[in-house]
Amino acid sequence: MIQFLDLKSQYDSIKNEIDLAIKNVISESAFIGGKYVEKFEEEFATYQEAKFCIGVGNGTDALEIAIEALKLPMGGEIIVPANSFIASSESVSRSGHKVVFCDCDPNNYTISISSLKSKITPNTKAIIAVHLYGHPCDMDPLLEIAKKHDLKIIEDCAQAHGAEYKGKKVGAIGNIGTFSFYPGKNLGAYGDGGAIVTNDDNLAKRSRMIANHGRIDKYNHEFEGRNSRLDGLQAAILSVKLKHLDSWTDARIKIANFYLENLKDINDIVLPIKEDWAKQVYHLFVIRTKKRDELQRYLKDNDISTGVHYPISLPKLKAYNYADQGSEEFFANSSDDELLSLPIGEHLSEDDLNNIVTIMKKIKY
Ligand SMILES: *Cc1c(COP(=O)(O)O)cnc(C)c1O
Repeated sequence: MIQFLDLKSQYDSIKNEIDLAIKNVISESAFIGGKYVEKFEEEFATYQEAKFCIGVGNGTDALEIAIEALKLPMGGEIIVPANSFIASSESVSRSGHKVVFCDCDPNNYTISISSLKSKITPNTKAIIAVHLYGHPCDMDPLLEIAKKHDLKIIEDCAQAHGAEYKGKKVGAIGNIGTFSFYPGKNLGAYGDGGAIVTNDDNLAKRSRMIANHGRIDKYNHEFEGRNSRLDGLQAAILSVKLKHLDSWTDARIKIANFYLENLKDINDIVLPIKEDWAKQVYHLFVIRTKKRDELQRYLKDNDISTGVHYPISLPKLKAYNYADQGSEEFFANSSDDELLSLPIGEHLSEDDLNNIVTIMKKIKY
């Protein structure tokens, strides 16, 4: 079986470093806070070209805390692209704001600038820019719109560690950026983990306080916060894995280029488009076909596992019945039954890739 994701083979390739890192954390009882967390925060801030990094419990917490740190007036509208993981919108409602969906771009699947513009009202306060599948959003027009309408930009970078917009790493291009280190992400921990990055001193300070019971030191709570931490074990593991991230990303890009070259002549398949200004880190390689379910079954019958991201667009989920945008004429609402994610990642061998392409070329529905 060709795996969609293979965390075991990745672990095997760095076993010695990981085992040593885990052993050190345990022998020093550096479980919460402490030097391994600080070290990773510094390394990740540097890597993402941000002034500050705050480790938190997971990517969903990172979004909620980032939104809260912006101190937006309660009940304001925040625009979220219609194709993403539910955390991108859930965090908006959970922090007391109103989700307004806009469409996605049919070429690179990130937020559609024209659709976004059509959704702005006097009550709009912020935009969630999801760098979906590892492809950065078109940030210049977003920044321009944000400036014109006085909106904040939260970058959801859960799928985009190391991605670049016009040569600049994502995360601190807008006001604040959030990351997930869920095991299957491009940079994944061995459990839950997340981070917030920003260049803004105040947002960094407030995010850190919100994530730590609203305090600056042990019992000095300036306001009510919450408990959301990146723990020492995860931080130490992430420090080891961060050193390998660029080579893993290079492998993803090579595979994507191989797919783009070798699948281009197959009828009925729409390949993803990478914009010239993008460093796309290919968290996912998503194709589109009217015969999605048939193709997925055919690949499974040929021992190739695939995924669907995401099978139901956010506005069409029951959870968003209240937003009443499920029948809007969005590309995202009509293409969710056409999306198929092919295997991608450094675990795939040349044989695997040749196999996938050969089998895909033989499709007969
Ligand atoms: C994974 C993901 C999240 C949430 O991250 P968790 O660490 O699982 O909470 C948020 N946004 C997007 C786009 C994601 O893919």
